[in-house]
Amino acid sequence: MIFRCLLYCALGCVLIGCGGETKPRSVEEINAERQTLPGLFITASGQRIEAPRDSGVFVDEASGELAWPAYACTNPDCPGRNGEVPHLFIWSDPRFYVAEDGTLGTRQFNTAQEYRDAAAQAGTDRQPTCNECLKIRNLETETPEEGQKYSEYPRQYVLPATRQRELELDAEHQERIEYIEARIRAE
Ligand SMILES: [Zn+2]
Repeated sequence: MIFRCLLYCALGCVLIGCGGETKPRSVEEINAERQTLPGLFITASGQRIEAPRDSGVFVDEASGELAWPAYACTNPDCPGRNGEVPHLFIWSDPRFYVAEDGTLGTRQFNTAQEYRDAAAQAGTDRQPTCNECLKIRNLETETPEEGQKYSEYPRQYVLPATRQRELELDAEHQERIEYIEARIRAE
C-alpha cells in the first residue's frame, strides 16, 4: 500500500513537475507568494533594506536599528518628490524598540492616553504623515478638508519589481479561476 502510494507520488511528480511548477497554481499558493514578495524597509537613519514584505517591524542586523515598512507620499506637489520618484518615509510606532540583546522588543500600554503620550514623546504622528509635505503645510490654519487630503497621500510603498510581479500574479489568479470554471463546466 505504502509502496503504491510512493509510486503514485513519484508518477505524479513526473507528470505535473515537482516543486509546484504546475500552472495555474492554487489561489493559496499565489497569495502566499504575494505576501512574501520583496518589500522596502527604512531605518530611522535612512538605511534602506529589502525584505519579505510580511516581515513587519524588525531589527536590521547591519545597523542595529529598527527597520520600518516604507511609505510613499503620492502628493504630486510634495516637496520631496523627484520627478516620478515619490518621497519615502517611515511611520514609527512607540510599541517597538531594540532590546538590550539586540532583538525586537515590544512594550504594552495600559491606556490609549499612555500610548498617545509615548507617541508624542517619540515625535510619532497618529497616522502616516509625510515629513516633506509638513514643510508646505500650516497645521495651525489648514482646514479639516486640507488635513484630510494630506492624510490620504501616504501609501505603503511597493517596489517596482514587486508591483510587476503582482500584475503577473493577478493574471495567474485569473487563469486559476478560469481553469476551475472550465473544470466545473466539464463535470
Ligand atoms: Zn509629501
